[in-house]
Amino acid sequence: MSTPTGVDYFDLAADLTEEERRVWASVRAFVDERLVPVAGGYWERAEMPLDLLKEYASLELVGDGLEGPGIPRLSHTAAGLVTMELSRGDGSFATLLGVQAGLAMRSIAFLGSEEQKRRWLPAMARLEVLGAFALTEPDHGSDAVALATTARRDGDEYVLDGAKRWIGLGTACDVCVVWARGEDGQVQGFLVERGTPGYEASVIEGKASLRAIHNADIRLEGVRVPAENKLPGARSFRDTGLVLSATRAGIAWGALGHATAAYEVALAYSLERTQFGKPLASFQLVQDKLVTMLAEVTAMQLYCVRTSRLAEQGRLTDTQASLAKVNATRKARTVTAVARDLLGGNGILLEHRVARHMADVEALHTYEGTESIQTLIVGRHLTGIGAFT
Ligand code: FAD
Repeated sequence: MSTPTGVDYFDLAADLTEEERRVWASVRAFVDERLVPVAGGYWERAEMPLDLLKEYASLELVGDGLEGPGIPRLSHTAAGLVTMELSRGDGSFATLLGVQAGLAMRSIAFLGSEEQKRRWLPAMARLEVLGAFALTEPDHGSDAVALATTARRDGDEYVLDGAKRWIGLGTACDVCVVWARGEDGQVQGFLVERGTPGYEASVIEGKASLRAIHNADIRLEGVRVPAENKLPGARSFRDTGLVLSATRAGIAWGALGHATAAYEVALAYSLERTQFGKPLASFQLVQDKLVTMLAEVTAMQLYCVRTSRLAEQGRLTDTQASLAKVNATRKARTVTAVARDLLGGNGILLEHRVARHMADVEALHTYEGTESIQTLIVGRHLTGIGAFT
């Protein structure tokens, strides 16, 4: 078995299971051989690398640690390593899989009926069917709990009206999990299938982050959904929150992947690039920056492995996951910025990768609950005082 190599200063790989190391090596090879060489081009063209999906599906790694029909069994740690490696290659590709498995498949696995799970999950795990997760609205981002899209029962159907914004894969998906307020005033979830009249999605143009995944503005006008497409387990926003809190630790792994890429590129560059007759790596200030990056990456690794192990034991709390996300996205912003600086002018060229990671981390800092919102969640836990309003 090939052993994964990479930044692992505290030899965390030694504590992984054989299966986790196998998964890591498998995704790492895909990332280095197939994703890294093309990622910059897709990013620059703002194109989604959909042609890579079939090959990636053959690795049988889509599932994000979920249980359900047709889903390959991965430990939370293995799922985290997958997210980390994909993000080390390309944040857009990692986010595409995060939307697919982390959000859309998780909504069905956690809150769907047995029939919905059997119908959707195996095909989604094979990436033959793409999913999206439509929670955010033009007027409700951090306060998604106040979402305004409505769901009204009409005979054997529900009728959805409203608008959604920022929805990853919203234009490309075969099924979109749409969150709407029911007649009981509670947030409910619905599976809206491709081609349903009244679902109009358009790509948000001009993104400077995660350019290789398309996000959509969606208009929902009289969208009729059969009653059997309502998620029976989604009875209030608390249920939506179960999906969101389960994905938060995954964002931390993603941020770790971006930081790892930036550190690796900066270390290699500082050894190759000569100024004042010496490699950059020979200057004390440069070594200080490299060690700062390594320290941050190593701290993120420890957080990530620990949160995943807690999740495997059913002991990871919402606030621990929030702290992991805050810590990781903050550190990733620092590490990618330091790496960009170390590459000088080349640091802003896509061919050197670091600028893309630096830009992509900005989306992770914001999506699935901003840094400030995660901080407020932890702050409320520490003090017992909610400071959201
Ligand atoms: P706002 O809520 O308007 O926040 C703006 C600023 O105000 C932020 O700094 C925020 O922290 C701060 N703020 C807000 N409230 C408070 C407060 N009480 N106290 C202090 N500060 C506060 N959503 C989906 O449903 N599905 C997706 O697939 C999806 N994909 C996304 C992909 C990308 C690339 C991006 C950028 C977003 C995506 N989102 C998606 C939406 C994402 O979850 C929201 O952008 C995020 O929750 C923040 O909402 P907002 O952008 O409306 O910002």
